[in-house]
Formats: sequence, structure tokens, C-alpha cells
Amino acid sequence: MKTNYKRFFIGTALILILSLIGVAMVPAISTVTVTAKPSADTNLPYENFTKTWYNFCPLCGAYNSLTVNPKGTFEVELTCSYCGADYCAVSGKDKNGYGSRENLIPAENNYSKNNLFMELMM
Ligand SMILES: [Zn+2]
Repeated sequence: MKTNYKRFFIGTALILILSLIGVAMVPAISTVTVTAKPSADTNLPYENFTKTWYNFCPLCGAYNSLTVNPKGTFEVELTCSYCGADYCAVSGKDKNGYGSRENLIPAENNYSKNNLFMELMM
């Protein structure tokens, strides 16, 4: 009986510590605001949009690696300096010739930090 209680306590403490680490990590991620035209397959009109994204590459998991248009595309895109993935700066879709695999995480519309934490953990 005593050992069971101890295990339960250690398990709870571990979960608590892990979630504290996660919550501490989220504010460390900067955001990137960019004005661009859609450059992925979207239903959006071909005009300038200003969007803010969390600076996190969902394809390779790198933080603060997104750079604004290093290749100088006309539409302006976001490129991960770590893995080289290109993202449409308006829809956040990754620009893969075989279809989008991942999507950037929007930092606007009060996107919940808990949701961001869940996405980072998956
Ligand atoms: Zn990347």
C-alpha cells in the first residue's frame, strides 16, 4: 500500500515537472511577422497579407530558425535556416512539390499557448 502511494507521488511529480518545462519553453519562442502574397495552393486572393507566426519549424522541430525570404521570391516566403523548408508566409503551408506536409503555427487570434505546447510535444 505504501509503495503504491509512493509511485503515484513520483508519477505526479514527473508530470508536473514536465509540464513546467513545457510552459517555460513556450514564451522563449519568438514570433515572426511578415507581409507576403500567398505562394502555396490556397483559395486566398493573390494580394498582400500580414501574418504573424511562431518562429518554429514543424518539419524539423527547430526554434527561431525561420528567416524571411532569403531566396528573394516575389511573393515573400519563410525559409527554415536549419532544414531549408520553404513555407507560404500567408497560409503557413510548407511548399513541397508533393503537397503540404506541415503548417506553421499562427501566433495571432489568441492562439492558446496550451495548444502550442501540445503541438510542440507531438
Ligand atoms: Zn526546419
